[in-house]
Amino acid sequence: PIPVITIDGPTASGKGTVAHRVADKLGFHYLDSGALYRLTALSALRRGTDLNDEHALAKLAEHLQCSFQGGDIILSHENVTEAIRAEEVGNTASKIATFHAVRHALLGLQLGFRKAPGVVADGRDMGSVIFPNAALKVFLTASVAARAERRYKQLIGKGISANMEDLLMDLQARDDRDTNRTIAPLVPAEGAHVLDTSNLTADEAVAQVLQWYAA
Ligand code: C5P
Repeated sequence: PIPVITIDGPTASGKGTVAHRVADKLGFHYLDSGALYRLTALSALRRGTDLNDEHALAKLAEHLQCSFQGGDIILSHENVTEAIRAEEVGNTASKIATFHAVRHALLGLQLGFRKAPGVVADGRDMGSVIFPNAALKVFLTASVAARAERRYKQLIGKGISANMEDLLMDLQARDDRDTNRTIAPLVPAEGAHVLDTSNLTADEAVAQVLQWYAA
């Protein structure tokens, strides 16, 4: 079987960076499942879709015309790599991700990323729902403070002004929503290795994941 490594965790836990680097090191494909929820959210925001209309949102998700080209994310011929990272899109993604029909609509697309020689899948439910038989499951955590600081540095690095208190509140709100939803709540999958990255560099976290995979 084609090997799968799942890396799940809360927002700004560093899973994107870690998953990407692990995929590079192993020559594996990379699935950024959060991007699929963000693409659906962006489509909905642009079309003015009612964000409470589960059925309409699921339809959008099911018919997403998207592709991943190198580091670029394309939606209906438009490069939306930057656009899907906006806070509004992230918040909307987290809201529509509570709908079962939306999650179901994105299932096939996610499974399609399992291609030789392997895939590293990053998200919230990669190990628990999408790839329950993964060769290795990792759950990354970090304190809210550590994650807020990372997000702060990221934003400042991009020349975007940021407020630490707002970031803390935003992270906590998103954690609550992702953890307390009834469908695919954010909890470590059965058999997942839990790694607290509060005091680790990305390279240290990558090394630990590779060590687990080799073991
Ligand atoms: O990881 P990212 O911040 O890009 O994900 C955006 C939102 O999509 C998350 O806040 C979460 O609510 C949702 N999501 C999800 N399941 C996944 C990936 C993301 O519910 N596998």
